[in-house]
Parts: sequence; C-alpha cells; structure tokens
Amino acid sequence: MHDPDALRSLHLARFQAEPAIFAAPGRVNLIGEHTDYAEGFVMPAAIDFATLAGISPRSDGKVVLYSENYAKERSFDASALPTEPSHHWSDYPLGVLAILAGEDHTIPGFSLTLWGDVPLGSGLSSSAALEVATALAVTSLLGVSYPGPVLARLCQRAENEFVGANCGIMDQFISANGAKDHALLIDCRDLSFKLAPIPASVALVIANTMVKHAVTGTEYTSRRAEVEAACAVIAAHRPEVRFLRDATPEDLERWGSEMTPNSLKRARHVITENLRTVAAAEALIRHDLRELGRLMAEAHRSYSQDFEASCVEADTMVALAQDLPGLIGARLTGGGFGGCTVNLVEMEKAPAFAAALAERYATEVGIVPQIHICHASGRAHRIR
Ligand code: ADP
Ligand code: MG
Repeated sequence: MHDPDALRSLHLARFQAEPAIFAAPGRVNLIGEHTDYAEGFVMPAAIDFATLAGISPRSDGKVVLYSENYAKERSFDASALPTEPSHHWSDYPLGVLAILAGEDHTIPGFSLTLWGDVPLGSGLSSSAALEVATALAVTSLLGVSYPGPVLARLCQRAENEFVGANCGIMDQFISANGAKDHALLIDCRDLSFKLAPIPASVALVIANTMVKHAVTGTEYTSRRAEVEAACAVIAAHRPEVRFLRDATPEDLERWGSEMTPNSLKRARHVITENLRTVAAAEALIRHDLRELGRLMAEAHRSYSQDFEASCVEADTMVALAQDLPGLIGARLTGGGFGGCTVNLVEMEKAPAFAAALAERYATEVGIVPQIHICHASGRAHRIR
C-alpha cells in the first residue's frame, strides 16, 4: 500500500528534511472510452491505489527527483531545467515543472520523493497520478493553489506538451477531482461533472490481463486520426459539428458512406459510447445496476468490434467473467490493446469472483493475472 509514514522515512533518510506529503489516486474508467478527445463524456472513478509525493525545499538550487518505484534519483539545476523529454520516468514530473514555469512561476530548488502503488503502465493512470501528486507538491511549495479542474488541465498539458503523449483530460481530471464512493460523469467539453454514486454493496474488481500490445502508441494515434476524419465528413454537411460529441447516429446513417470503413466504425463507437456513458450515469443515479451492466457489455462489444482496441486476452477476461456469481458488468478499460478489465461485482461475492476469474484466466491464457478489489476513492490531497 501507499504508506505516508514509509514515504516520510525514505525522504528523511535520503534528504535529511521533513517532507510535506501529497497523494494522488489512479483511476478506473467505468465507461466512456476514447470519447474525451471528441469533447464527449467519460465516467471514471478514482481508486484506492495512489502515488505519494513528499517534498522539501533545498537551498542549493537543485531539483532532485527520486522514485522509490525505480530506486533511481535524478538531479537538475532549478534554473536550467530540461525543456525536452528524455523518455525517462522523470519526464512526467519535469513536464509539470515545465508547464508551471510557463505559467510564470519560478521553480525553486527542492527534493521530491515519489512512491506509488498504482500499477505502472496497466491502464490505471499511474502517469496522471504522478503528475497530479507532483503538481500538488510543487504548487504547495510555491504557495499557490489551483482549483482541481485547473490543476488537471496543467497536468494534461505536461503529458501532451512535454512528455509527448497525446492523452485527453480524463485521467488527470479524475485524479484531481474524484469523490469517495462515486464515479464522475465528466463532460470533457466544459469539464463540468456530475457525481454518480456507487452503492456500498458494489466493488470495483480490476483484472489485469498482464499484456500490453506494442501497437498501443501508434494505434492510439491512428484511431484519433480516423475519428477526426469521420468528424470532418459530418462537419462538411453540418458545420456546427466540431467534434463527434456533436454528432448523432442519424448523421452516420446519412453520411457514413462518405467515410472510409474504418472511420465509420470508429465514429460509430464514439457516438454510441457517448450516449451509453450518459445513460450509465443515469442508471447509477437511479440504482439500476442491471441497466448499467447491460451498457457495460454493449460498450465492450463496441470497443472491441467497432473501435478494434481490444485484444484476445482482454476479450477472454471479459468473457470468462460473464457467468461468475455477483457480476454486474465487465469491460476492457483504458486506452486499449491490453491492460485491465473493470468488473462491477456485488461486494460480498467479490473475493470469490476474483479468485475464480484468476483461475479461469490462468487456465485459458496461460498467464496469472493480478486482480484487485478496489473502491471509489477521493481526490488528490495533502496528507500532512
Ligand atoms: P499508465 O498511466 O496507464 O500507468 P503510462 O504509460 O501512461 O501508463 O505511464 C506509466 C509511466 O509513468 C511509467 O512507465 C513511468 O515512466 C511513469 N511513472 C508512473 N508512476 C511512477 C512512479 N511512482 N515513479 C516513477 N515513474 C512513474
Ligand atoms: Mg497514463
């Protein structure tokens, strides 16, 4: 677990200074995949895995970054911080510093200890947790405080403009604004959000397929290009459609034939996913778990068949969950091509569900999966 006492001890031993400590959660997206950059809807929940950042000022003008996850330290002059990424974990905290510097803050010398239990690179947003924890720590040292949505946008810019990952706003937003026992229906157009309560009787069971197919980066980019091309076709007829968020299933019926077959399928996923995501939030709000499960199943089919962002292992993990006692709904979550599935499961059946799913997956795929029983947790915050 992410233990602030252990982080404090590490920081004290390494830097001989008392740290202020911040935590930022990872997240699981319940529904709404590849809709954020189409200015659509997503519905993630923050989870009880988090990245901790301990920070203390230094008087030698250095910025020293230490990650306990990698057991590695990097040191820079605060007055000459890198302006380009080096394809190293330090790009994420350095990206946050670069964006803050661009906002006219002078970055002082400091020591930063990072340590998290969000699984790295598994689609649970360890990168956003790292950015948001860093941003909270550094802004607190600067004596400034940004509202959660603004902090999220700064962190997204760090990932887009410095790290070079073309992600949407969802991951940073939920880490900075999540609410305990709730998912957030986020409107990625104006960043307004609505709380959707997750009943106390429901667990978020996250099943890691343990695979991440190497296509991820290139396929993400090509999917975005196909989505944008589909939008351009519709916009040629209806100029008010700036993003697929503004498009309807009827638009696809009328003008889909002008799109490439791939663009049409990708657009069908995004347009129907937006509708499903809003419907899923309404289902949660009125405690209609059956409908939520049905929408999650439909979302998985759409993600797998129309968006073609699943893989054999993820499809298998979802299929193997279907007849296990307690399942409400299951789908692949995150950017795709591997990573984790999210399963909504009746709380008291969750441990048996997790054990049975692990055994089935190991037998069928030949890989022992990691399965985590999680709960919706609160937003990033200062611990001490
Ligand atoms: P995800 O966000 O789904 O976990 P990403 O590939 O976007 O996957 O981000 C993972 C990367 O974030 C890691 O490879 C590493 O570079 C960085 N990272 C995340 N957490 C930490 C940490 N605690 N310490 C150092 N680097 C981290
Ligand atoms: Mg990430």
